[in-house]
Amino acid sequence: MSDDKPDAATRARWLEQLRAGAFPDAQGRYGPFGGRYVPETLVPAHERLEQGVKRWLGDADFQREYQQQLRTWVGRPTALSHAPRLSQRWGADVWLKREDLAHTGAHKINNALGQALLAQRLGAQRIVAETGAGQHGVASAAACARLGLPCTVYMGAVDMERQAPNVGRMRLLGATVVSVTSGDQTLRAAIDEAMRDWVADPEHTYYLLGSAVGAHPYPYLVRELQSIIGREARAQIQQQAGGLPDLVIACVGGGSNAIGLFHPFVNDASVAIVGVEAGGRGAGLGDNAAPLSFGRPGVLHGSYSMLMQDGDGQIQETHSVSAGLDYPGVGPEHALLQACGRVHYEAAGDDESLAAVRECCECEGILPAIESAHALAGARRWAKAHPGKRILVGLSGRGDKDMLTLSQTLLANAPAGAR
Ligand SMILES: *Cc1c(COP(=O)(O)O)cnc(C)c1O
Repeated sequence: MSDDKPDAATRARWLEQLRAGAFPDAQGRYGPFGGRYVPETLVPAHERLEQGVKRWLGDADFQREYQQQLRTWVGRPTALSHAPRLSQRWGADVWLKREDLAHTGAHKINNALGQALLAQRLGAQRIVAETGAGQHGVASAAACARLGLPCTVYMGAVDMERQAPNVGRMRLLGATVVSVTSGDQTLRAAIDEAMRDWVADPEHTYYLLGSAVGAHPYPYLVRELQSIIGREARAQIQQQAGGLPDLVIACVGGGSNAIGLFHPFVNDASVAIVGVEAGGRGAGLGDNAAPLSFGRPGVLHGSYSMLMQDGDGQIQETHSVSAGLDYPGVGPEHALLQACGRVHYEAAGDDESLAAVRECCECEGILPAIESAHALAGARRWAKAHPGKRILVGLSGRGDKDMLTLSQTLLANAPAGAR
């Protein structure tokens, strides 16, 4: 695909296929996006995984065990909380899907647990995972400890320094954390290293990828495991509010919490859907992590999707105050949802997202992750433009992990003794 926008007929066809549940297709594509652009050495490992997903994901025994662990260990279903004071301030009817209440503090455990159970079924003897901010590493380490699987987490050397508390959490949970000093020494290099480890022995090693990105079948597998968020929320809001929301909104890094929340609402024609990327300091190159808003299509980590890259196709540095949104790519299904017009994507900046952290704390008694606060910032904007509507916000995680950043920003700016 070129950078040119697809014509109206093409977009209409994608939308129709989307509604019919045609994605991913047999090649793991979402329209022009997705697929499997990997070196020869990685093909057998991905094919093995694809067969495993086909065999086990719908298996009654697998699902029984997964649902049981979600209930008794993760703490699902997570609450749907009405937000009366935000509702009053924004002139809307605001509801929060509380993934911050899930074990380890975010939605990531839904995916980590599901894939760890799958790995067990596939006969894996060890798990490898990548992590950026450390949240997926912690979720993976916890799931592996629970199932008695050895876990190795690759983490960029730069990230290990920035996210030291999570390194300690992973080690306490029994994981081996390997410092990655190649490439950019952050998430991108960590993914490359985890793949290298996986491909060395794909029969006994399972690669537990942390978002709805990468080559087929990962974006599909992660969407299926995270869709529990949207299925629960859809039933809860109908029961508690008496109907569907007018808007469903979530933050988008790689896109796993968002696709999990959005997927069960895609065919609800009355429901608007918005994804909020990390707008960082602004629209300039290197100032944000918002590939759907400011990027161009290209291949990263085996998948064709929207990317932050320069004119020569070099991946750009990204910036966000939120470590969990700081990734130059995005899951291919989001690229399609944008291209066919079903979901609108926009960016929320560092400052308005930090302000949304404070507002959520003060109005609702909930300290959200800075990632999740991007969704709140987007919701606030939408509420002002569409008064009186019912809004479902995906609160992807809790903000305790962000205390260092918050003490250097929100708390540092408050006059002494003022709060
Ligand atoms: C990791 C993380 C995200 C971003 O990841 P997605 O795959 O886009 O969901 C968002 N919120 C929280 C709390 C996270 O930990």
